[in-house]
Amino acid sequence: MNDELSAELSRIAPVMRDEPLSRHVTFGVGGPADLFVSAKNEEQLRGAFVTGQRHGVPVYIFGAGSNVLVGDGGIRGLVIDNQHAAIGEPWENGVGPRVSAGSGLSFATLARRLANAGYGGVEWACGIPGSLGGAVVTNAGAYGHSLRDVLIIARLTDAGGEVSEFSADDLELDYRKSALATGTMGESAVLSVDVRLQKGDAAGLKQTIRRYDEQRKSAQPTGQNCGSVFKNPPDKAAWEYVDGAGLRGHRIGNAQFSELHSNFILNLGGATAKDITLLIELAQEKIRAQTGVEMTPEVAFVGEFE
Ligand SMILES: Cc1cc2nc3c(=O)[nH]c(=O)nc-3n(C[C@H](O)[C@H](O)[C@H](O)COP(=O)(O)OP(=O)(O)OC[C@H]3O[C@@H](n4cnc5c(N)ncnc54)[C@H](O)[C@@H]3O)c2cc1C
Repeated sequence: MNDELSAELSRIAPVMRDEPLSRHVTFGVGGPADLFVSAKNEEQLRGAFVTGQRHGVPVYIFGAGSNVLVGDGGIRGLVIDNQHAAIGEPWENGVGPRVSAGSGLSFATLARRLANAGYGGVEWACGIPGSLGGAVVTNAGAYGHSLRDVLIIARLTDAGGEVSEFSADDLELDYRKSALATGTMGESAVLSVDVRLQKGDAAGLKQTIRRYDEQRKSAQPTGQNCGSVFKNPPDKAAWEYVDGAGLRGHRIGNAQFSELHSNFILNLGGATAKDITLLIELAQEKIRAQTGVEMTPEVAFVGEFE
């Protein structure tokens, strides 16, 4: 089955077998993908997605891999590395400026490029390393804003290759979730997004971005991680619960709850998905026992775990 699929995919884009996914995720952990394709444009992204679906194998799209924990056993199926990062010129449609961008473009890059060109509306996303496709799936956000506030439409293909436009309501964008994440939309891939902008002043926007950068630098660790591990429960920040459980700085194998920000888990070098999973489960158990609160991971678990 994989030989036939591989041959068909190779007519769309180069195919790699047994590609270690640790190279493609910000956590730096995870086993190999049976088949791995880098899609450089929308045609390749859509073509590879539909081909994988037609062959009935599990198909995963990775944007920046900044919100996934891949199991040590890797992925039995096809991984599409989304490099479709085209960006159009901002244009007016009578109700204000907007921009269209490929789903593989990083949200941070979009925010910074637009700020340099004097367009605001997404400057708060300057530190979100994920792709716009990933941002749709998680309704990525920061500093009280999220994609939901600015998304005009996202263009998606379904498993059969039919392309349709969806609004933020259609996609049920909510705090770190969407109909794509909950599975209610079925198998779909985000191809591109249109985002609402405001005309602004480039110097002022760049200053705002510098302020956000400084805030992140002082509050968040660098190194291999996936950003926030848990979603914030309604009453207080997730890091406060991790602290309350006494787990700031706690280490299992080569994974550690960060000393600087206890809702981040760091791969100290050579961590396994197992180390990280054990830390996540330990925090969930302790917090459940102490407070009754169920901590929901923000990071998506994909592939084979022990
Ligand atoms: C240092 C750091 C800081 C972060 N800060 C923030 C922050 O401030 N706010 C925030 O919200 N998040 C933050 N994150 C998390 C992450 O950047 C976001 O969740 C981001 O939206 C994930 O995008 P991605 O491209 O990396 O998705 P991936 O990790 O590649 O994928 C995540 C999920 O989306 C699916 N997916 C990805 N692209 C597509 C597509 N085109 N079509 C269909 N499905 C797709 C994947 O299959 C997977 O299920 C941070 C992460 C790091 C490492």
